[in-house]
Amino acid sequence: MTNTNENWDKCTVCGAPVMVNPQTGEREDCGQCASRQSAAPGWLGFWFILLFLAGTGVVLYFSIRMLFAE
Ligand SMILES: [Zn+2]
Repeated sequence: MTNTNENWDKCTVCGAPVMVNPQTGEREDCGQCASRQSAAPGWLGFWFILLFLAGTGVVLYFSIRMLFAE
């Protein structure tokens, strides 16, 4: 991929196009990486809750079965 516009550069992490500040010549924060970073904990939390609920369900299921088995 070649840069046709000098105001754009490629993100070093994900390769997505990022804006370059014409005054300072510095690369702006990559929006794709920022959204990925903010999205990752949400997904981890979702899976953690899902596993926690599944584990609680299994424990409840076996404890109820034990109670009624006597
Ligand atoms: Zn990036």
